[in-house]
Amino acid sequence: MEKRLIYADHAATTAVSDEVLKEMLPYFQENFGNPSSIYAKGRENERAIMNARQRIAKCLNADPKEIFFTAGGSESDNWAIKGTADRLAQKGKKHIITSVFEHHAVLHTCEFLEKHGFEVTYLPVSPEGIVSPDDVEKAIREDTALVTIMFANNEIGTIQPIAEIGEICRKHHVLFHTDAVQAIGNVPVDVQKQNIDMLSLSGHKFHAPKGVGVLYVKKGIILPNLIHGGGQESGKRAGTENVPGIIGLAKALELATANIPEKIQKLTPLRDKLIDGILTIEQTRLNGSRTQRLCGNVNISIVGIEGESLLLMLDNYGIQASSGSACTSGSLDPSHVLLSLGLVHEVAHGSLRLSFGEELTEEDVNYILAVLPEIVSRLRAMSPMWEKLKKENIKLV
Ligand SMILES: *Cc1c(COP(=O)(O)O)cnc(C)c1O
Repeated sequence: MEKRLIYADHAATTAVSDEVLKEMLPYFQENFGNPSSIYAKGRENERAIMNARQRIAKCLNADPKEIFFTAGGSESDNWAIKGTADRLAQKGKKHIITSVFEHHAVLHTCEFLEKHGFEVTYLPVSPEGIVSPDDVEKAIREDTALVTIMFANNEIGTIQPIAEIGEICRKHHVLFHTDAVQAIGNVPVDVQKQNIDMLSLSGHKFHAPKGVGVLYVKKGIILPNLIHGGGQESGKRAGTENVPGIIGLAKALELATANIPEKIQKLTPLRDKLIDGILTIEQTRLNGSRTQRLCGNVNISIVGIEGESLLLMLDNYGIQASSGSACTSGSLDPSHVLLSLGLVHEVAHGSLRLSFGEELTEEDVNYILAVLPEIVSRLRAMSPMWEKLKKENIKLV
């Protein structure tokens, strides 16, 4: 079989697309001016940022004044959560609601706040990987400052009932933030229809460069300044703007949100073929709901193998994939997301995440389905754990 190169790790990062790069390039050299300068080269940059802000706002159904540029998803999450906590603690509100399977940018921020006198409720998720709006409502208290629930999970791709959760928060006058980093370009996002007060997104997950993101903050919500200094971002986040990054993010967001139904229509059957094909291997299980799921996400546990060994073997075959999240794959701890679904450690360890973009083809799917079973057999043949399970006829899934 001819070796193919398949990048199946779009949930970790994506390449800057040609169209995005083309819009960015002039801002590195010809139009390098500082947006705060008075002369034409400066003003031109200021206009470009204003234009980008308008285009981004339009994609989210927001107002340009509600768009704040940041250095990425982690920074946006930190600002929304710590900023709200800081503000509302002054009114005696020191309770935050989140879920157990958030990205670490949210979880570690909440843990930090716990050390500073805040109380955090970590809602469980269903075995299918969905947060229940009822649970959110029950957890809300007099002193709740913020609910923060991710739009789509980065490991298992499950899509959360965001509009419903947002509605509940509105009803109880509690602010609602969502980390929408994985949802952008895969699910329609409309901050008004979906009752969202604050939303984080990150450029490099949808073909803009790394190091640029957005925090949407609904009009009327006042967050404390994140970086003190000059007057950029309405004085809230000082520092000369990342002009090429901002221009790139605007273009990438327009492209990513322009054809979501077509993307879903194209990728869903390919994703399902892949899931069904991998599940024919004995002792495997799909992690996360099959229907409330990003069109490009496959996450399957394969009993009797180590995720890391699997990734190295797949890489030899030209397939770049992930096990758990990129941030935790350097450690041997099983993914907190998979554990939150109720998986035992042995099953969580042998997980494979494949995450795709629009360029995925039927040939790619066939290739993965051709090489994966053979790799699994080889790894299982070397696994003392698999031998033991077989001998004792134990089925873990
Ligand atoms: C990638 C990711 C982040 C972090 O974004 P950065 O721009 O890399 O800081 C946050 N949340 C989710 C869900 C992500 O997938």
